[in-house]
Parts: sequence; C-alpha cells; structure tokens
Amino acid sequence: MNVESCLLPEKDIDLSNIKRLGLMGGTFDPIHQGHLVTAEAVRTSFSLDKVIFVPSGQPPHKVEKKVTPKDKRFLMTELATITNPCFEVSRVEINRLGYSYSADTVSYFRQMMDQDGELFFITGADAILEILTWKGIDELFADCTFIAATRPGFQNQAMAERLGAQLKPEYLKKIITIEVPAMAISSTDIRSRVARGRSIKYLLPETVEQYIYKQGLYKP
Ligand code: NAP
Repeated sequence: MNVESCLLPEKDIDLSNIKRLGLMGGTFDPIHQGHLVTAEAVRTSFSLDKVIFVPSGQPPHKVEKKVTPKDKRFLMTELATITNPCFEVSRVEINRLGYSYSADTVSYFRQMMDQDGELFFITGADAILEILTWKGIDELFADCTFIAATRPGFQNQAMAERLGAQLKPEYLKKIITIEVPAMAISSTDIRSRVARGRSIKYLLPETVEQYIYKQGLYKP
C-alpha cells in the first residue's frame, strides 16, 4: 500500500458535545506504549471527553534530524490508537504545508470547539522545557493548559526553576506535570533497538511493530 499520500483530507472529527478535549502532540517516530498510557492516564485523570493524537508534519526543531516520512508516522499512530474509542488521530499537521507549529494546531481545534470548552495540550516534559522557543506562546497559553508527561527520574524541581525564571507566573500555572512510569519506554530507544537487531516486542502495539519490520524502518 502506498501511504505516501498527502492528499488525504483531514478527517471529520466530531467535536459536538466535547467540553474537555486533549490534543496529544508528538513526532511519534514511532508511537509506543508510553504515549498510549500517557494519553489514557491524562484522559481519565482530567475527565477528558476525547484525546486527539496530532502527529507532527514537519517538526521545526528537527530540521537537521532524520525523521520518518509523515504519512508513515501517521499510519503507525492510527494503528496504535484504533482500539480506543476515545482516541482519534488528526491529519491537520500532516496536511499543513511548512513547519508544524503547535500554536496553529491549537488555534484550529479551539475554533472548532464550543466557546466554553477546555483544551489540554499533552506532550513530553522535555518538549515543554523548550516552550519559550515556540511560535505564538501568548496565544497558546490563552487557548490551552499544558500537560507535561515526565519519565521516572525526571527532575521536576529543575524544570520548575528553569521555567519559573523565564515564564510569566500565570503561564506557569497552566503547565501541569504528570509522572508516567511507562514513559521509561522511548522512541529513541526503540529506533536504536531495531537498528541493532534487538527485540522491541511489548514496547509498542504489535501492529506497529509489524509495520516497522514490513516497511524496513529504522535500519542502520
Ligand atoms: P521531541 O523533541 O521528539 O521529544 C521530547 C521528549 O518528549 C521526548 O522525551 C519524547 O519522548 C517526549 N514526548 C514527545 N511527545 C510526547 C507525548 N505526546 N507524550 C509523552 N511524551 C512525549 O518532541 P516532539 O515529539 O517532536 O514534539 C512534542 C510536541 O511539541 C509536538 O506536538 C510538537 O509539534 C510540539 N512542538 C512545537 C514546537 C513549536 O510549535 N514551535 C516546537 C517543538 C515542539 P519520545 O521520543 O519517546 O516520544
């Protein structure tokens, strides 16, 4: 199957009656159990009606890095989330030309939601640490609350100090950290394991594992 088609339209995601929406942003190269456990933990802890996974199209902070083609990352995200009726995957960043800025994505979903709806942007704490470099942070903090997933051993205090020194206090209040033990799994480690011929079984859904092997992803 040729999945290298950017011509697929954005899916019609029904946001009627959605009051609390999570946007799960990431490169997902590849998506793994840590991401899925994070999304489900945030969904239940914050009483979200739905979590929409938004794979990055062209990450602005990865210009120098080799990233798997966006349609393959999108398809892996679809395969991984298909069994959860509260999860959806959006093509909005896959289809957008140019760099994928979260401010554009959040604004897109904000406009589709009811005025009184609440939006939560979920991603890794390491990504949030760089938030001052993101485009449109005033609009982002006006539109959503950030949920930063941390791995075991993550220095919460160091993060608070670093962001506290740079961010307005009202913005700082809109960043909530959540420790997810399953985030001990990482995409970098999975890519490295495949490259070294090591097993990745149980680190990610079997369908995604099989897709990686079938497409020959992450070979040295
Ligand atoms: P990254 O730099 O690849 O990852 C940073 C860390 O966060 C990694 O440890 C990563 O672990 C983890 N992570 C990434 N997504 C996660 C998620 N959804 N849940 C839990 N942990 C996650 O970051 P990225 O994936 O490319 O970007 C993260 C999000 O920030 C994306 O939505 C991206 O568009 C956004 N972002 C926006 C801007 C901007 O607007 N200018 C700039 C940078 C990032 P894994 O490697 O295991 O995933």
